[in-house]
Amino acid sequence: MLRVYSCIVHEHDLGLVVVAGFICLLASLTSFAILERVRMGGARKLTWLLLAGFVAGTGIWSTHFVAMLAYQPNLPIGYDLNRTLLSVAIAILITGAGWFVATRPARWMALPAGTIIGAGIATMHYIGMTAMNVGGRLVWDETIVWMSVAVGIAFSTAAVAMERRLSLPFTWRPALLFTLAICGLHFIAMGAASIYPDPRIAVPDEAISSATLAVIVVAVALLIMTISFAVVVLDRQLARNAAEEAHRLRTFANAAVEGLVVIDGERIIDANLSFLGLVGMPSDAMAGKGLAELFPEFKPQTSSAANDPAAIETRLLRADGSSCDVEVLLRHLDWGGSDLRVLVVRDITDRKEAAARIAHLAFHDALTGLPNRSVFASSLAAIADKAASDAEPVAVLCINLDRFKAVNDIYGHAAGDGLLVAVAQRLHATAGDAGLVARLGGDEFAVIQIGGTQPGHAGALAERLLNSLDRAFAIDGQDLRISASIGVAVFPADAQTPTELIKYADLALHRAKAEGRGTVCFYEAAMDQALRERRQLDSDLRRAIADDELSIHYQPMVDLEHGRVLGFEALLRWRHRQLGDIGPATFIPLAEESGYIVELGAWVLRKACAEAAQWKPPLKLSVNLSPIQFMQDDLAQEIEAVLAETGLEPSRLDLEITEGLLIKEPERAIAILQRLKKLGVQISMDDFGTGYSSLSYFRTFPFDKVKIDQSFIRDMIDNKQARAIVRSVIGLGRGLGMPVVAEGVETAEQLDALRLEGCDQVQGYLISRPSPISYFERVVIDRDVTALLPARSINARK
Ligand code: C2E
Ligand code: CA
Ligand code: CA
Repeated sequence: MLRVYSCIVHEHDLGLVVVAGFICLLASLTSFAILERVRMGGARKLTWLLLAGFVAGTGIWSTHFVAMLAYQPNLPIGYDLNRTLLSVAIAILITGAGWFVATRPARWMALPAGTIIGAGIATMHYIGMTAMNVGGRLVWDETIVWMSVAVGIAFSTAAVAMERRLSLPFTWRPALLFTLAICGLHFIAMGAASIYPDPRIAVPDEAISSATLAVIVVAVALLIMTISFAVVVLDRQLARNAAEEAHRLRTFANAAVEGLVVIDGERIIDANLSFLGLVGMPSDAMAGKGLAELFPEFKPQTSSAANDPAAIETRLLRADGSSCDVEVLLRHLDWGGSDLRVLVVRDITDRKEAAARIAHLAFHDALTGLPNRSVFASSLAAIADKAASDAEPVAVLCINLDRFKAVNDIYGHAAGDGLLVAVAQRLHATAGDAGLVARLGGDEFAVIQIGGTQPGHAGALAERLLNSLDRAFAIDGQDLRISASIGVAVFPADAQTPTELIKYADLALHRAKAEGRGTVCFYEAAMDQALRERRQLDSDLRRAIADDELSIHYQPMVDLEHGRVLGFEALLRWRHRQLGDIGPATFIPLAEESGYIVELGAWVLRKACAEAAQWKPPLKLSVNLSPIQFMQDDLAQEIEAVLAETGLEPSRLDLEITEGLLIKEPERAIAILQRLKKLGVQISMDDFGTGYSSLSYFRTFPFDKVKIDQSFIRDMIDNKQARAIVRSVIGLGRGLGMPVVAEGVETAEQLDALRLEGCDQVQGYLISRPSPISYFERVVIDRDVTALLPARSINARK
């Protein structure tokens, strides 16, 4: 130690020693400022590291040589240029490597970094010493040499370790330690050297002289100072700019609706509030996360320098484990001089949901959620295609609700819709995996069934479907009942193409409807023709009023006791322009099915009332009311209007209804009946005996008349039961004070039998066939009400 001290004090120019120390401190300060800059992150790390290496290396070297200038051993000294340059290069390289290690994140890296740097200083120093040509022999004290190396490493390590925890302007502390490392090593090493003058050793001429060296070293030192100054100022400015810019950017970014994520490589550096909100994560938890943790399916193109113009749809994992659909755009960003990338993240859950809804709507029926007609058709096409190659049969079941229109008319469309939804659910649940259920429109549904032994398999499914509809539907607090008809066609047995298959199932359906409610029909080739005719007829009927093809015939009802005409029943007639006369038994059910009966019935009512109003004697007019017509809400108003319009006395109008009406919804039917009754019109029970014929109808509503169905009259002569029924109905009427009419009286025998049973009124071909009113001129114009009853019949009794 003493040796080192005396070496400094006695063998050095102290002024130059101070200069050396100053240069060293300046270089250290600059190096650590740069090091801190490297730690701040961003691009060009390597450039910064090289600069730090350069500054430190040249700093160490300058310190060394200024200190060497201060060394005056009173001998001629020169320096070898090549070795001097080698020592500079080594100083730059080794300290550069040291700085690189020093910037590694692990704390313990300070030791290897300090060791490398310390070794660098030592290497520089001792190679630098070999560059010295002096007129003497250099002898080293090895202990002091190792001491110098140890001091260099220890202070370097301490400086690096301290630097980790500090930033500008406090980097002066490690810089001071580093200065101690360099200067300490240098002067201790100088103390280790002793020069023994030897005149045999000559200083070569080409060696650089001390004067030249002084100029070079001062120039280099100035260069270092200039660089260091520029670096520090520039860095400060840049840092301030970056901070301001970051603040401005953050304000902007947070105002953005879209999520913004700044990434460096695959790592998230920062994110705006929108994104944090979307993920549900605080900002400090976000920083440093890998991109793949949040976007498991997203792979950003690392290579492309250009902005990727296309938005990519991907999935974002939220903090709570859920995920959402997002659209991601990648943009490059010049962030405080470093090239980062920004992910623009847009939550597209709503958009996707809307798109899915639209897609669903396009393919599904909005009301019931079942696949719609177009899905049905395309599925069937695909299925039939596959079935053809697999040689598997495919059945199509077309389903139509019976009298659904009546439900709509009576309960309103909301209830109708509710019923459709409920029916759809039951069909879907019943078909299960066995078939695809679709709603083709209105009250039409269809099922595709694949495989099985056909048509038995389809028949069984049809039965199950019908059964599923058996239970009442609770709609709007009411129990609605509905049945359905089903038509079945099978591929390839019945049809060769999907289009044909649908068409034939539809044909079968129409026959099922014609056969009555709740029926299943299978396609038969003959149906085709029959259906076409039916459809044609329905459309012909709709233009029949306008084309004047409809007329009303009247059939008299006669009082048995006196043979007087009491009234006429209006019966609709249709003379089709090509087909001739078509009976009401054919076209009335057709009109009921299509709903046209409402219009048709109104026409009959108005026309017949207008006619009856012209009759001289105030005879009764009976008009048939179809159940569909009857359930109209405004029926009473309509009748009232017709009566007012035509001037017909309400008491002369007799509305004939059938018991079927009372079976389905008795309360509602009775309410309507009571409303009609209030108008002053009469109500008759038509076709009695054909339905359930419950006597309770007569208890719940006071009918004005009951008409025994003509089938009983036809059979009463030969069939005891029929006669017994006729007798009991007549007895019932008498008991209730309600006149009884026998319909379809064709023979005198029947008439006599009815008279014997005490029947009140008769109607039938025996009296008169239904005919145009002109036929009954004598009755309605001449007031001869006894003109019709055959004399023989009346006389027979007397
Ligand atoms: P309905 O109300 O029972 O009418 C009586 C039917 O018996 C009429 O048949 C009539 O021509 C027929 N008839 C009368 N006397 C005899 C007879 O002695 N022997 C036989 N075999 N038949 C006789 P039509 O006119 O063919 O009408 C059939 C059914 O069509 C009617 O049965 C009625 O339910 C319905 N209908 C007819 N016109 C109308 C109408 O304007 N509106 C409604 N809703 N239904 C109507
Ligand atoms: Ca009738
Ligand atoms: Ca009848």
